[in-house]
Amino acid sequence: MSHRVVIIGAGFLGLLVTRRLRKLIGKEIELTIIDPKDYFLFTPRLIDALAGSHARGLKRELAPLLKKFGAHLIQSKVTAIDRNRQSISYTAVDDSSAKTIEYDQAVLAIGAETSDYQIPGVKEHTFHLKSFQDVARIQERIRQRMAEHSSPACVIVGAGATGVEALGALSRFAPQCSLSFIQGAPQILPGFPLSLVRRVEKILRASGAQLFIGESVQRVSATGIQTSKTSHISADLVVWCAGLQAPTINLAPSVERDPSGFFVVDAYLKLDNHLFAGGDIVSYREDNLTIPKNAQTSFLMAETIAKNILHRVRGEPLEPFRYSSKGNILWLGKTGILDFKFFCIQTRWTGFVRDLFYHFRSWQILG
Ligand SMILES: Cc1cc2nc3c(=O)[nH]c(=O)nc-3n(C[C@H](O)[C@H](O)[C@H](O)COP(=O)(O)OP(=O)(O)OC[C@H]3O[C@@H](n4cnc5c(N)ncnc54)[C@H](O)[C@@H]3O)c2cc1C
Repeated sequence: MSHRVVIIGAGFLGLLVTRRLRKLIGKEIELTIIDPKDYFLFTPRLIDALAGSHARGLKRELAPLLKKFGAHLIQSKVTAIDRNRQSISYTAVDDSSAKTIEYDQAVLAIGAETSDYQIPGVKEHTFHLKSFQDVARIQERIRQRMAEHSSPACVIVGAGATGVEALGALSRFAPQCSLSFIQGAPQILPGFPLSLVRRVEKILRASGAQLFIGESVQRVSATGIQTSKTSHISADLVVWCAGLQAPTINLAPSVERDPSGFFVVDAYLKLDNHLFAGGDIVSYREDNLTIPKNAQTSFLMAETIAKNILHRVRGEPLEPFRYSSKGNILWLGKTGILDFKFFCIQTRWTGFVRDLFYHFRSWQILG
């Protein structure tokens, strides 16, 4: 009987594992992928869409893609995993029926959700940046406000890579907006090399953006934001890029999670002998550092998980995961930073390099 592998989530990690497995193992396995969406979203391209540029390769239909990979799609939301019975419960999106599927090996790859940290007003008065509907809503709000007055105030909360790039994108989409950042941590781009952080901060300040660093948001209203240090920052639009939490899913017996609900995996990216997890949904520490949640990490983890499933099928010892950053590309609208092992430069060609790189990444995932 062929080995049943079920992948939960058709994002970066899920699709990469699917593609690698088919290449590594061929027909020895039966591959199923479960996702409520019927398309794959290349999320970094949302920044291009937000800038009003053509977001090439943002969305790809899953059914033909998975047919090419020899995998079966179940368009459903997974609600629970019974680890003792090796069974996954899911709810179909079309008729809401509840079903189960059994597995020999499964991969949990359901990504992360935006967290509002239960701060008053965040749910009601801020915009997320996780889907193209979110992008359309943000742009619509800016157009509305521009019709009312010439220079709407746009505030981005959270100065991680997504927040910083979103600010660059907005400066292109609506140069007449006044832009601000609020960052609770004492520096922007936490976890990035300090030389890069300083350069980006300089570019942002020179662009006229106001930076409120080390100020945590206390409350958001229809007209602005109150922080731990400033009583009122006026805002016509607040884009919330501040934090991530794990989507709801029930695992029985339960496994270790970090305070935001992310799953703590072992060195082989396992939760148990039949269940792997990777990408944004996991919390992974190496050399006392929590490794970043980004597409690059998902690429590396997918490679290890695919190889370890192959080892399981063949009864071989597993390989540990090793994280190594290949560098960073940060696009800030008119300019940007290319930060690699031997150089870190600011160049207006960043957008062009990033475009080529994303093209290559898309090809790696989608073929
Ligand atoms: C605007 C934006 C810009 C970004 N830019 C960059 C960048 O420039 N560089 C970079 O490295 N990273 C970037 N990232 C981060 C990157 O997108 C994520 O790190 C990456 O997508 C994580 O991959 P993943 O497979 O873990 O999760 P995802 O790609 O989010 O995929 C998760 C999948 O699981 C599915 N799912 C969720 N819940 C369930 C469920 N219960 N049952 C079944 N399926 C489920 C979802 O529908 C989704 O398809 C950006 C993110 C955003 C939002």
